[in-house]
Amino acid sequence: MLSLLKKRMESISVFDMLSIGVGPSSSHTLGPWRAALRWIDELKENDQFYKVAGITVDLYGSLSLTGKGHATDIAVILGLSGFDPVTFPIENIGKEVDLINSNRQLTLNGEREISFSPKENIVFHRKFLDFHPNGMTFNARLEDGTIKSSSFYSIGGGFVVKEERQTKKLKLEKFSHFPFPIQKGDELLAYCKQENKSISEIVLENEKSLRSEAQIDHELKEIWNVMLESMYIGCHTEGKLPGGLNVIRRAFNMNKDLICNSRYSNAEEWIAAIRSTEVKFRQILKWVSCFALAVNEVNASLGRVVTAPTNGSAGVIPAVLMYYLVIENHEADFGHIRKFLLTSGEIGSIFKKGATISAAMGGCQAEIGVSSAMAAGALCELMGGTPEQCLMASEIAMEHHLGLTCDPIAGLVQIPCIERNAMGAIKAINACEMALNGDPSKAKVPLDKVVATMWETAKDMTSKYKETSEGGLAVQVNISDC
Ligand code: SF4
Repeated sequence: MLSLLKKRMESISVFDMLSIGVGPSSSHTLGPWRAALRWIDELKENDQFYKVAGITVDLYGSLSLTGKGHATDIAVILGLSGFDPVTFPIENIGKEVDLINSNRQLTLNGEREISFSPKENIVFHRKFLDFHPNGMTFNARLEDGTIKSSSFYSIGGGFVVKEERQTKKLKLEKFSHFPFPIQKGDELLAYCKQENKSISEIVLENEKSLRSEAQIDHELKEIWNVMLESMYIGCHTEGKLPGGLNVIRRAFNMNKDLICNSRYSNAEEWIAAIRSTEVKFRQILKWVSCFALAVNEVNASLGRVVTAPTNGSAGVIPAVLMYYLVIENHEADFGHIRKFLLTSGEIGSIFKKGATISAAMGGCQAEIGVSSAMAAGALCELMGGTPEQCLMASEIAMEHHLGLTCDPIAGLVQIPCIERNAMGAIKAINACEMALNGDPSKAKVPLDKVVATMWETAKDMTSKYKETSEGGLAVQVNISDC
């Protein structure tokens, strides 16, 4: 029975749920960037790469409707150029794109110069492809005049698939040796009980089947470093965000007011300085909001953040983890960070498997709702909660995001997105506290029910509220007033 289960289950690594990328959107920036890189691999595998004479890229549905604001065109250009979203120096993005625009030439995968004008060769179509709202087709004109096309779908969180689901098949094979295959919250709890382990311990066993413990620690440290860096940069950068909405960065002033006269010169000293400030309820609220705003201001300016589980919601998990480090436990070390990231990643994957983490499929409940649920459950484990209480915390956090729509003004990941991360983080902390005082055996709504409800709500939601900027704030607010 167990081997049968293993065969049919989609297993997702924590490192798929939490990955380092570039803002502003995991589905509209990171996904298309990765898709372009995969297409280049495909051309090489098919012996076509060195025969390419010209390229066009078609962006469909939500990728088209909010693609400009989400920098989808820029991501495609950088992917076609062969740059890695994890390591590419973000300060060079503008320069690279300007060069391609002015020369009307792109160096495909850094190897071959081809003529390419982003304005003419990237085409935005309002129409939706059937398979998924975030579709894109790469077309290569080969030297003999034949056209080779390949379509990809960005399904949220930076995940990219092809219609034939080859990726899924490969993944199933790769992950078939997870010792604890998990599809639902109930299964996770059953393993915790059977093995007498916490959620993070079960997840660690699964990850150990893919990489060594030293490698796991190394990658988790890198993830935390990017999270911390994005908070630090966001809290120390003034000015307006790009895109034309004239949104003022707020984390800078919040940090300045809260930190008072403390002196520090790097992120570690900053943490120590925050720990030494006086914090009452109002300051705690402000600090948590400040951390979340900081990350999403960095994200909105095409900065480097951790997709957690998406870029639009990248601020919630760092803000809640930072809350633990600077408010709840001044002695916390990497062991605590590791537990938090492992637990949050697993909870996110349960939502991905049972519902969606794509705003184009489920609105903002799929982004901020999921990130809040991930953070709530992970915080609960650090605060001494049982596995049952952790899932209760996640359930509470999601329950109060159900139905949340996605309606970014001008298609930019700024309003309501940036503030929404602060709200998601605060809700996560509150959900954790309620679960710690709660009795999961008496809970009326188990996590799996809220996952199913979220998915049903997603299906019922009109496309106006699914990352199209065709409803809600996106149409009520006049951009010229911004
Ligand atoms: S409204 Fe929510 S889901 Fe939509 S782009 Fe903003 S953060 Fe993402």
